[in-house]
Amino acid sequence: MFKSKIKEVILCFKAGRVTAPFPLGPEPNPPQDGYRGKIAVDVEKCIGCGGCANVCPPRSIKITDTDHTRILEYFLSRCTYCGRCAEVCPEGAVTMTREYQLATNDLNDLYIRSEIYMGTCGRCGRCFKPKTILDRMMVTGFQPGDLS
Ligand code: SF4
Ligand code: SF4
Repeated sequence: MFKSKIKEVILCFKAGRVTAPFPLGPEPNPPQDGYRGKIAVDVEKCIGCGGCANVCPPRSIKITDTDHTRILEYFLSRCTYCGRCAEVCPEGAVTMTREYQLATNDLNDLYIRSEIYMGTCGRCGRCFKPKTILDRMMVTGFQPGDLS
């Protein structure tokens, strides 16, 4: 019994260090190309089509329409990193980053909200994003965000 324990100890010391001191040291295996980490949304590119919300399996993207504004909310705590939203986005507004260290005690770290001023089609009633600021002002009037 005692002998086997000594053997075990010797074996353990022979193996040397098998763990990396990350995050105190360098990252041992950084994510490679094509890694699907936290999603990023480029609000400027988004046209508010809703494609990402339609295909999201866990329903982590919520769309709310008010008079001339479409609000997109991304609840990343529900995200399964499937990448469907990035695949279908016609404008390339959603991308998968390599960020994977997402542990947090503040849910706001995993929340993205964007508001898009939209016009309403006179024929079908569906929302669309006016192409230019001038077009937008024609349908929505002046908005506080117009000058930024
Ligand atoms: S990566 Fe998948 S689960 Fe996450 S927001 Fe996009 S579609 Fe939804
Ligand atoms: S992020 Fe892309 S898919 Fe989602 S609403 Fe905007 S343009 Fe459409």
